Amino acid sequence: MSTPNTDEIFKNVIAHAKEYGFVFPSSEIYDGLSAVYDYGQNGAELKNNIKTYWWKAMVQMHDNIVGIDSAIFMHPKIWKASGHVDGFSDPMIDNKVTQKRYRADQLLEDKIAAYDAAGQTDQAELLQTEMDNALKAEDLPRLRELILEHEIKDPLSKDRPDWTDVRQFNLMFSTQVGALADDSSTIYLRPETAQGIFVNFLNVQKTGRMKIPFGIAQIGKAFRNEVIARQFIIRMREFEQMEMQFFVRPGTQKEWFNKWKETRLQWHLALGTDAAKYRYHEHTKLAHYADAAYDIEFDFPFGFKEVEGIHSRTDFDLSQHQEFSGKKMQYFDPEVDPDTNKPYGNYVPYVIETSIGLDRMFLLTMINAYKEEDLSTEEKQDSRTVLRLHPCLAPVKAAIFPLTKKDGLPEKAREIMDTLKLDFNIQYEEKDAIGKRYRRQDAIGTPFCITVDHQTLEDNTVTIRHRDSMAQERVAADQLDKIIGDLVSWKNVL
Ligand code: ATP
Repeated sequence: MSTPNTDEIFKNVIAHAKEYGFVFPSSEIYDGLSAVYDYGQNGAELKNNIKTYWWKAMVQMHDNIVGIDSAIFMHPKIWKASGHVDGFSDPMIDNKVTQKRYRADQLLEDKIAAYDAAGQTDQAELLQTEMDNALKAEDLPRLRELILEHEIKDPLSKDRPDWTDVRQFNLMFSTQVGALADDSSTIYLRPETAQGIFVNFLNVQKTGRMKIPFGIAQIGKAFRNEVIARQFIIRMREFEQMEMQFFVRPGTQKEWFNKWKETRLQWHLALGTDAAKYRYHEHTKLAHYADAAYDIEFDFPFGFKEVEGIHSRTDFDLSQHQEFSGKKMQYFDPEVDPDTNKPYGNYVPYVIETSIGLDRMFLLTMINAYKEEDLSTEEKQDSRTVLRLHPCLAPVKAAIFPLTKKDGLPEKAREIMDTLKLDFNIQYEEKDAIGKRYRRQDAIGTPFCITVDHQTLEDNTVTIRHRDSMAQERVAADQLDKIIGDLVSWKNVL
């Protein structure tokens, strides 16, 4: 078996995700909808398990973090206050020849990467600086000039491009609430879940009697009208975020920022991923609300890409909501400041945010787990595709097979399955030879296959086969609960 290159691996993962019910293109029978995807029967389970891992790690394991579920629709003023109406946009440029639209900054970034790859590091650094300056100054004509000066071509066409001016394009989807379609009824689909947390800050703090420092976590959908949708579920128009805002006393934000930066990387590594696959990326160009920002990046087959952002958002959001809503967003801190011997008193808290894209985490997990293994021996050629998923994340925890469809074996297998299915997601399969059934379960990452045979009817033992080692052992059926439970326990990662 030849070793596939990274491009092929990525293509194979996408094909595998579809073939085995993980991810389907949305509206496929109508030829799909660009940058929108559906999760299938195994994908939904894997996604839920990733959410559970995050929720347990963030909410259940921290007695000062609670979780909420806020609405996707929010008062339109929220997006004015947060800066999204005026500032949440990308610089776009069109090629008049091909009618294709691109993000001007991404065209330049690709050029910088090309200079780097060709060993022209001076050129790369110079262009990076010039681009950063133009972006910082919001100098759109300069971005266009850079594209022309560096003779950047349309990535999809060999013809000479005819570039338009660079314009800002807002990424928020808007719609109308109610029957009247005037400006006052325009509302937005949230482009991030964080604002639902900020506007509920006082509700949660008061009803939960939360004391600073404390956090509010949330998992939910976010929507961005991404102009360039690419790399499968990396950049979608409808996606899911898992965000946590941690409210702290002003002046302590640096310390908490460092703590969360480390804690979040540990969460990733606890799944057993090779640490070399991750790296931090420090933001030099900070968002309007941030005083520090790091991304956690993963080495995807197409290069390192952001999976999670850790942002020190200062008191920007709460202060803005205080101003736009006219309601105080303050916290009274009764603790005594040793410098003044007086309580810290009223202040608008500072915020550290951890924001991870669930879909990017899903893709990372699939790519990491996907293995094409050569099992050939001298006698015969053989191979398998296996998802070496962490057992906690596996969609199906065990599959149960009667060796044959007769002699009461299916009934016995179902009887054993009934003892397990409340606690674990178990699959029953009786079609095809056992070897084929193993392969199907390997392909979806099931850690255990349990075979019920004639001996089971006599002594209530079964054969259990392990996904990774493919080793088999004979165990008592009444031990299965413990064997599966031990392997898939969240205690292994938390
Ligand atoms: P990028 O620079 O890749 O567009 P971002 O910096 O805009 O990402 P944030 O606003 O920090 O992203 O959002 C937090 C997380 O949400 C990201 O780390 C990413 O995992 C996820 N995310 C953002 N945009 C998308 C998208 N269009 N599709 C899927 N996930 C996304």
